[in-house]
Amino acid sequence: NNSLVWFRRDLRCFDHAAFYHSLRQSCSVYCAFIFDKDILDLLDRRDRRVDFIHASIVELDAELRRLGGFLIVRHAHAAEEIPRLASELRVDAVFANHDYEPAAVTRDARVTAALQKTGIAWRSFKDQVIFEKDEVLSQAGKPLSVFTPYKNAWLRKLHSSSDDFYLKAYPAETYASRLAAPGNGDAKCPPSLAEIGFEASDLAELGIPAGMSGGEQLFEDFRDCLDRYHETRDFPAIKGTSFLSVHLRFGTVSIRGLARQAVDAMRRAGGGTGAATWLSELIWRDFYFMILHHHPRVADRAFKPEYDAIRWEEGDHAQQLFRAWCDGRTGYPLVDAAMLQLRRTGFMHNRLRMVTASFLIKDLGIDWRWGERFFADLLNDFDLSANNGGWQWAASSGCDAQPYFRIFNPVTQSQKFDAQGKFIRHYLPVLARLPDKWIHAPWLAPAAVLTDACLTLGIDYPHPLVQHDEARKRTLERYAIVKKAV
Ligand code: FAD
Repeated sequence: NNSLVWFRRDLRCFDHAAFYHSLRQSCSVYCAFIFDKDILDLLDRRDRRVDFIHASIVELDAELRRLGGFLIVRHAHAAEEIPRLASELRVDAVFANHDYEPAAVTRDARVTAALQKTGIAWRSFKDQVIFEKDEVLSQAGKPLSVFTPYKNAWLRKLHSSSDDFYLKAYPAETYASRLAAPGNGDAKCPPSLAEIGFEASDLAELGIPAGMSGGEQLFEDFRDCLDRYHETRDFPAIKGTSFLSVHLRFGTVSIRGLARQAVDAMRRAGGGTGAATWLSELIWRDFYFMILHHHPRVADRAFKPEYDAIRWEEGDHAQQLFRAWCDGRTGYPLVDAAMLQLRRTGFMHNRLRMVTASFLIKDLGIDWRWGERFFADLLNDFDLSANNGGWQWAASSGCDAQPYFRIFNPVTQSQKFDAQGKFIRHYLPVLARLPDKWIHAPWLAPAAVLTDACLTLGIDYPHPLVQHDEARKRTLERYAIVKKAV
């Protein structure tokens, strides 16, 4: 029997569940990736993510060829192309890994139905998380919606097997001889970016390495920082996090491999607070995938329904506030520097994602969905589950979100997490000459300090868009409707 492995957000050929199972169960295995027009047609022609995917599949194809196979790459509507390709290749089954996003679930249901008509089986597997769907439940057998009990149950399940069963890699190489070799008519390499209608982005200039080799390199760079992660992870001017999110998004690293590294580091260090904290972040990732699976409505509505009654700012004024936030012109240096980081690199530090999201929602009174959409367009690592989870956390409307009356102060956050203004100065050189004391709130600086720093507010750098204390009061009034509902 022959099969086809459909690679989607899992662009690697090591420790890959669907790839492994198809090789084990079949005599001959084809591999395919579809540049899906349903997704690509909506994107900017220089989207970094397409560049990242492209570079990653070029490497995947090369690696498959080294193993004796190759990657069939098409530019088409995936939901139609996969059944067509499966029939063309006369395979008995299509293998893929689970995808939990509502649009992907619908697409996969269409593919399954089309395959069924021609007698081709659909086999799918858990791969991008350690535990999925109903695997981690409360004592009462219900899905959890608060992180700490979820994490505790997650860890209990992980340690319930003595041999780290859940972290075991799938050894696909053992069966590599079953890969279907390229025929004479098969392309020698994947189509170029131009052939699928895209242009090269600035990924290389930004030093963002793609593919399996890129993921490995980033982890190697991070390995020595793991033990101190709990101390460094909150400071955007320090290289204290792994930068692996884009690799986790496109599956060029294995989540099992990363979790294993964390667990091993914890064992070596007799607990290892740094590694344990990092593992916790990987558990947050599983948590949000689980939430999206059980509550797909969160994709456009509040997890806590009473929060849908909140009235956000509207009209031209709201549009102006939103544009200023998007462009990094709020007059709050940390917020603006963070938005510039996002615009220039497609990445934003986690602390700053929390600060900017909170600022948009609770200082400017803008609907969290506007910010969520903006992040979705720009983040290299955009993942519906984590992005939605993060935004709803900041809006207090999510599961286990921060309480609505907890409102970040953008100035104290700046003083605490970028005390010397290093991050701010990097993205806002116009503020570079301000002393540390004033860089977090330039409007409070005495005139002489501004003159010395060659800075005229309103010309070189904006006045603050809102006063935080007043905005805070308005937010508490806005959220009063929630209090009434509870
Ligand atoms: P590290 O600190 O090295 O963490 C390791 C990995 O753990 C990350 O790569 C990521 O996969 C996972 N992780 C870390 N924090 C979280 C978290 N809070 N929730 C879920 N997973 C987490 N992460 C995304 O991957 N995609 C998104 O679209 C996304 N949008 C966000 C939006 C907001 C408003 C907020 C507050 C957070 C968002 N995050 C998102 C989570 C987090 O900010 C990023 O995962 C992290 O900054 C990526 O950097 P890193 O790879 O260096 O992370």
